[in-house]
Amino acid sequence: MNSHFVIAIDGPSGTGKSTTARLLAKNLGITYLDTGAMYRAIALVALDANISPENTDALKNVLQKTEISFDGENHILINGVSRETDIRSSRVSGSVSLYSAIPEVREALTEKQREFGSKASCVLDGRDIGTVVFPNAQFKFFLVTDLKVRAKRRMEELLLRGENVSLEEVMESLAERDEQDSNRKVAPLRKAEDAVEIDTTHLTIEQQVEKIRAAVSVGATLESPSHNQKK
Ligand code: C5P
Repeated sequence: MNSHFVIAIDGPSGTGKSTTARLLAKNLGITYLDTGAMYRAIALVALDANISPENTDALKNVLQKTEISFDGENHILINGVSRETDIRSSRVSGSVSLYSAIPEVREALTEKQREFGSKASCVLDGRDIGTVVFPNAQFKFFLVTDLKVRAKRRMEELLLRGENVSLEEVMESLAERDEQDSNRKVAPLRKAEDAVEIDTTHLTIEQQVEKIRAAVSVGATLESPSHNQKK
């Protein structure tokens, strides 16, 4: 596969999108962008500065002054400082959807994501990659997983980080975030009509990666990916 192509992986929280996308990118030798981490970064900076989602002017200022980048391990740097653990905390998870629903936040981050995707072949994971950010992506996948299975996976991650939470709490918070992400006015979470849906409930991460890799290989053989990305 020599031509420039974009792989969009969307779906609700905790379906394994990020891990799958990261491994897939490594496997294919292309770059990866975790768009959820970008929304989390803006939410973290706003929370630290006590800026509410309604305070659009202050949020615009945050968007202008916050430089988001990733290190070699795909861990986020905010203004050059590693904040990977902080963006994954329950505090940020509990509020990020309120900030990501704000049109100004979406506009600024969508622009950065399109810029990233225009440079080289890449995998992006998020909620609106196949519908809004890259509606012409050559490959689109939508991951779904049973809520309890997602909550168990997320709870294990949080326990590893020293956050003691119950399965019920995690289930509630994931369901609430999905509800907010699916019902916002701008770029809500939804499956693109031409996305391939993959139910990961009974799949390991390796199996998820392999399913997508195989679909990408078949697609790449069947048709030559276009160079034109709709902006
Ligand atoms: O993928 P992750 O769970 O880290 O995303 C955190 C939050 O960022 C989501 O719940 C959603 O509110 C927001 N998000 C978004 N659009 C994306 C990626 C993430 O609105 N493309």
